[in-house]
Amino acid sequence: MNTKSIKLSEVKLKDLSAEVDSGRLSHAVLITGATEKIRAQVARLTASALLCVGDRDKPCGKCGHCVKSLKNLHPDITEISGEDKAKSIKKESVLLIRQQALIMPNEASEKIFIVFEAQNMTEEAQNAMLKILEEPPRFARFILTAASSEGLLETIRSRVRTFDLGEESQESKQNKAQTIACDIARALYSGSEYDLVLAAAPIKKDRQLIKNVCDELTGIFIEALKLQKRGFAKTEGYPENESQAMAVKMYKSVSPSLLLRWTGTLSKIAELAEMNANETLLSTFFCSRLSEDKIGMTANEN
Ligand SMILES: [Zn+2]
Repeated sequence: MNTKSIKLSEVKLKDLSAEVDSGRLSHAVLITGATEKIRAQVARLTASALLCVGDRDKPCGKCGHCVKSLKNLHPDITEISGEDKAKSIKKESVLLIRQQALIMPNEASEKIFIVFEAQNMTEEAQNAMLKILEEPPRFARFILTAASSEGLLETIRSRVRTFDLGEESQESKQNKAQTIACDIARALYSGSEYDLVLAAAPIKKDRQLIKNVCDELTGIFIEALKLQKRGFAKTEGYPENESQAMAVKMYKSVSPSLLLRWTGTLSKIAELAEMNANETLLSTFFCSRLSEDKIGMTANEN
């Protein structure tokens, strides 16, 4: 398979590429890792390569199938992704795939269904998907993508051949940092020091995670400060993520001076993390300094 257009080392695409070239690729494939964009590119490229009738590196880019598939216009390639704000893929969409999969291909030798970010399938949708994977129609092939296989039912995972493009994906790292940052923010404004230590426990041994969490938390504090300045008006689509929702909760209950002080402390911690300070000490310092800031401010305000 010609993978030059994908910004990823060839090593990571080696297994997938070899199976496509050999014609032995499983009828159900899951592509995980890297980034959402790269997973989508790899899924589309794989579909193109599978339908290509050129004789060199596939997709050749020249044959009729390639011309259509590379423009996303091939009638035998169907793409499915989440639609609403929650991006969930509903059972109805999967049932539609099932119907279409039973019909013979239009032009190619097979029909390919790409399910982008398959972890967004509801449980019902996943169960419907499972039925198709268990008894795949003769001409149908399925390419699923997901940040990691964890979001999929075990029964689905066992039915697909997984190709991991390596590294925890950037977005799953970011989601992780976001969740921890929100837990910490919650503990900071409404919990005890013990709650804070618990919330910060996951960052103990991961310098990069400490930095990412500092960034996320700083984002929350700054958003809360902005809300204090301009006031909160409920608007369509806001808050659009967990961090913004946390900022909305914070802006009423935490004074601007404390938010500023916390922001300053976080930038110091991020600086220390950059200077390779000991990770365990760093996370202890993280909790104690943020708590001290809070106690200090409460004392001043009283
Ligand atoms: Zn071709």
